[in-house]
Amino acid sequence: MSDHTLTSLDLSALPLEPGDPMVFEMEVRLPPLHLAGQDYVFVPDVATAVIKAIDVGRGYTVNMSFLCRLEGACWRCLEPAALDLDVTVEDFFEAELPPVKEIGEEDEPTLWYKEGGMLNLSRWAHDAVAELLPPKILCQSDCKGLCHLCGGNRNLVECSCEPPADFRWEKLKDWKPE
Ligand SMILES: [Zn+2]
Ligand SMILES: [Zn+2]
Repeated sequence: MSDHTLTSLDLSALPLEPGDPMVFEMEVRLPPLHLAGQDYVFVPDVATAVIKAIDVGRGYTVNMSFLCRLEGACWRCLEPAALDLDVTVEDFFEAELPPVKEIGEEDEPTLWYKEGGMLNLSRWAHDAVAELLPPKILCQSDCKGLCHLCGGNRNLVECSCEPPADFRWEKLKDWKPE
């Protein structure tokens, strides 16, 4: 993902009063996810996030929530699948003390998050979604997948391949009435 398309927030530029939460909306770009060798994209790729920020003295507590839709291939049949997600994350971002200045030295921006003092909302959102995902992304919860023998999509066609042995049925064959 290229950095210039991502959304960052300069917490130090917000008009925050210590201990007083500020709530606002922000458009956050959502970069694609790479899962199991496939690309999953957000549609749309920008979410309207509700951000709640509090200056807690040593740093900022930030809460971000947004709705998004992820689209990509079903893990069983490879047909299009979509997932609607309601994401909420909260974290504390430490404010580093500004470096001790020599007299006459120019003001330097305070660094309190890795990327030049900016909180990278896109990366944060991306990681939050990755943690929320179910173990498998499916086109439908009961997707029958592809036939292991002929490769046909078993949601669409009933192929004539030999079905795997059903052990419950095997047991029933041995059952005899007393
Ligand atoms: Zn499927
Ligand atoms: Zn088959």
